[in-house]
Amino acid sequence: MKNFWCDVYLDKIKNNVDRIKDLTNNKKIIAVVKGNAYGLGIEGITEFLDQFVDFFAVGDLEEAKRVKSQKEILLLTPLVTFTDFNTDMDNVIFTIDNEAILDKLSPETSIKVHLYVDSGMNRMGISPERIDSVIERIQNEFENIIIDGIYTHLHNGSDIKYTKNQINIFRGTVEKYIGIIPHIHCLNSTCTLNSEYRQLAEFTNTVRSGNILYGYDGLNQGFKKAYGFYAKPVNTHFVKKGGYVGYGCKYKAKKDMHVGVLGFGNIEHFGFNKSVKHNVLYDILKAIYNHVKFRPVIFSGNIGVRILGTANMNTTLISMNGINIESILRIDISPILADSSVEKNYITN
Ligand SMILES: *Cc1c(COP(=O)(O)O)cnc(C)c1O
Repeated sequence: MKNFWCDVYLDKIKNNVDRIKDLTNNKKIIAVVKGNAYGLGIEGITEFLDQFVDFFAVGDLEEAKRVKSQKEILLLTPLVTFTDFNTDMDNVIFTIDNEAILDKLSPETSIKVHLYVDSGMNRMGISPERIDSVIERIQNEFENIIIDGIYTHLHNGSDIKYTKNQINIFRGTVEKYIGIIPHIHCLNSTCTLNSEYRQLAEFTNTVRSGNILYGYDGLNQGFKKAYGFYAKPVNTHFVKKGGYVGYGCKYKAKKDMHVGVLGFGNIEHFGFNKSVKHNVLYDILKAIYNHVKFRPVIFSGNIGVRILGTANMNTTLISMNGINIESILRIDISPILADSSVEKNYITN
């Protein structure tokens, strides 16, 4: 698709890796690349990050197979199933997030694992009180299972008191394994950005980073947004004053004008929020809001571009006022929501 694409700025991702290193005093980095590397393309992102990070982490085996690196790949809880343990991939690290799995594994099982401590999320995990016996059991019954790490997930970073308590629970659980279990981690993006959490998590030596790696967060702390969506008008169409434009005649031309056609729409998830059904009052308020305060999502330079009507399946109509057919427009959408098939250009500078 030459008329709609996503540029991924690899130098910005490198900048973000360096920021993580700075903030955490050089802790090891597990680059979280689940969800197609947060929408930026797992193959391209892992190939680039290979030389800068220590591990990758994904949500399931299918994603692990797409990683373009020989580095070890942590399979995060909770989507990994028992059959996954039979994989012939030799660079995956399994998360052990429940004791029952040990009943199913053969004593000869030869794998590397990280143990997942439930410090409050209650999605999965081994309770802090059970960790010691789980470790003991693995050491006694599974000669070829290497316990390479132990971690927990801080799932509510905006609540300071709750999260500090969680970090303390985790510390209490793993402190005696410092220097024995090689990798201890709990900081995700939100918590890496918070100096109180960083300090409290001094005892850890590894971080799991997703959002800040790609610049979805941390922009006020030196992290850089690593992507941009762009489009060129595919076509223009002349409309006389008073003519209607697009589905449902939602837009009526106030004067003679040119309408531009952009080559993306609902299938790329553009305008997804507009299709949500709300009540009438909400629609009225939204109409007033949009009328009074125009909040553009398509830009020509710094100027907002008017969308005419609603996005269609694979096109979006705009006013060509001040734009020509050669203009490159910037589209303000999130890669996490955009269709993964949108063409990516990986740019090194
Ligand atoms: C997704 C995920 C992360 C990464 O979170 P960010 O906030 O994007 O850094 C870390 N740990 C686990 C267990 C995750 O599932």
